[in-house]
Amino acid sequence: MRKFSPFLYFIIFLFLGACNHTPLDIDEEPFVLSDEERWMEYICSPSRMGRKAGTAGCDSVAVYIQHVLEGMNYDVVTQPFMIKDSLDLKNLYVVIKGYSDSLIVIGAHYDGAKNGKRFPAADDNGSGVVSLLSLCKYYSQSDHKPPKTLIAGFWGAEEVTAGAAFNGSKYFVKSFEDIKLIKYYCNLDCFARKGVGTFFYYSHGLQWVGSIMADLFTKVNLEGMEFSVKENDKKSSDYMSFYNAKIPYFGWNDYSNSSFIHSSDDTINNISFEQITAVVDLTTKLIDRL
Ligand SMILES: [Zn+2]
Repeated sequence: MRKFSPFLYFIIFLFLGACNHTPLDIDEEPFVLSDEERWMEYICSPSRMGRKAGTAGCDSVAVYIQHVLEGMNYDVVTQPFMIKDSLDLKNLYVVIKGYSDSLIVIGAHYDGAKNGKRFPAADDNGSGVVSLLSLCKYYSQSDHKPPKTLIAGFWGAEEVTAGAAFNGSKYFVKSFEDIKLIKYYCNLDCFARKGVGTFFYYSHGLQWVGSIMADLFTKVNLEGMEFSVKENDKKSSDYMSFYNAKIPYFGWNDYSNSSFIHSSDDTINNISFEQITAVVDLTTKLIDRL
C-alpha cells in the first residue's frame, strides 16, 4: 500500500474538519426535545390562549391529546358533556387492559385557569396532562401489563365556576356504568413546579398505599428532588368527584403553589421535567403493587 506523507494526512484532516465544523456551529449543541417537552410546548403555546374551558384554545388541546393518543394506537373515547346549558365540553379517555377487570382511574384536567387570562398554565395542569400522556406512552411501548385495568382520563372544565367545580371528572363518575369496578382514583394536578418539593397524598384509609410509596422513593432515582408522603387534607381537585362517590384516591401535588398557580409565573421555565419523569415512574411502580 502506497504511503502518504504525514503532511498530506494533516492537510486532509484540516479539510475534513473545515467541512464538518464551520466556525458558526462550534458552540451549537444538538438540541432535541423529549416527547414530554414537545407536548408541554404545544399545550402552553400562546395560541392555546390559556385553555379556558369552552374556548377554541382549550378545544384544540383536546384534539391534540386525541391525536397523540391515537399515535400510540389507543382507541380514544370521547365523552361530551354540557355545563350551564351552554358550554359544550368533553372528557377523553383510553383503557389500558390489565390482568383483572378491576379498575384504577388516573386523571388530569386539561383546561386552564378560569379567570380567562392567557396564562400558560404549565403546572396547572400541563404537568398532569403531560405525565398522563407519558404514562400512556409507557404502556403502549412495553409488554408490561398492569395488574388492574387502567383508565387514563383527560378531564374538561375542572376550573369552571368559583370554588369546587371539577365538572369533567364529576360527569365521568356520574355517567360511568361500571363504577363499582373502580377501586382507586389517581389524580395528576399541579406537581412539577421547579424548586419546590412534590408530595404524594392519599385519602383517609389508604395509609398502606402511602407506605408503599415511601418504600418506592428508595427505589427510584430522586437525586436533587424532594419527595414526601402525607394524608390529604384538602378538597381542591378532581379527586373530590371520586371521593364523593366513596372511591379512595391518591395523587401528587406541589409543596407550595398557592401564589403561583393561576398566575403569569406558571410557565414552562418553572417546570421540572425531572419531577414529571419521577412521578410517572413512581406511579407505574405503585400501580404494579395495587
Ligand atoms: Zn389544576
